Amino acid sequence: MRVLIISDIHSNLTALDAVLADAGKVDQTWCLGDVVGYGPDPNQVVERLRELPDLSIILGNHDVAVLGQMDYAVFNADARKSLSWQKNAIETVNLNYLMGLSKDKLLRENVTLAHGSPRDPVWEYILNALSARMNFDQFDTPYCFVGHTHLQCLFQMEMDKDRVVQLIPKAGTVHPLVPRAILNPGSVGQPRDRDSRAAYAIYDPDTSQWEPRRVDYDIAAVQARIRAAGLPEKHAVRLAEGW
Ligand code: ZN
Repeated sequence: MRVLIISDIHSNLTALDAVLADAGKVDQTWCLGDVVGYGPDPNQVVERLRELPDLSIILGNHDVAVLGQMDYAVFNADARKSLSWQKNAIETVNLNYLMGLSKDKLLRENVTLAHGSPRDPVWEYILNALSARMNFDQFDTPYCFVGHTHLQCLFQMEMDKDRVVQLIPKAGTVHPLVPRAILNPGSVGQPRDRDSRAAYAIYDPDTSQWEPRRVDYDIAAVQARIRAAGLPEKHAVRLAEGW
């Protein structure tokens, strides 16, 4: 079984389409949130996701903000500007679709899905072994998939030593999983690990294999749409540099 794992698309349709083409045929898609925010294509991204069969999806902090369920004051100035733009641009049918999604953790196969962390699904960033360690007590499944940091990596719990280590498996290689682990597929639409390629992963629940992947996409086309929309220049520049 092949499950496509995507997160943090952030209104970047070109990156999403590159990922869907690169992934090829999959049995299911699990999306870890932040469908909108930052980028120029909120409607097109929601519409593309709605077309996917067997999609499981949860909300991220940017989605919750666009839905009007979170104060914009918690975001930085450029992110706030983008959120206001998205709130105006998004069509009611797409807003209603997001409205119907959960902000909470979701269970699929032997995996817990959360946007930020199992402890605080919308907001907490799992950036290091310490924050990962605090979260291993917050889910019961062998694996937990999270997004939010835009960093493709995994946190492995070494049961015998009660220690968590952070690993960055090489993109394009298959990594056999050992319980327990917290895994991040990286960001489709705004990677922040200095690799500008769109990030995602393929998970096989039958064999417990994780394959982090990267794919090139037409960044210049997205930058042109960001500028045409009058969105913050920073959001265009960072795409090419991967931060
Ligand atoms: Zn995000």
